[in-house]
Amino acid sequence: MPIYEYVCADCNNKFEELVFKNDEEVQCPKCNSKNTKKLMSLCRSRVSGGNSLDSLSSSSGGSSCAGCSGGNCATCGG
Ligand SMILES: [Zn+2]
Repeated sequence: MPIYEYVCADCNNKFEELVFKNDEEVQCPKCNSKNTKKLMSLCRSRVSGGNSLDSLSSSSGGSSCAGCSGGNCATCGG
């Protein structure tokens, strides 16, 4: 389930909320105002395209084998 971060425009309270529907009204737990705004996702390390270093190294055909660490021996064909 997606957790979003919200900020309340009335009291500037920041809070996290489970959201089931996209345009669900979220109430501030501090002042009960519905004048809240959704912030960007908390997961800043995640790139939406999935082009992180991890996925690059694991999907590029295995540049290293168990016999070497540099990916340049006869076993890995490099
Ligand atoms: Zn509030």
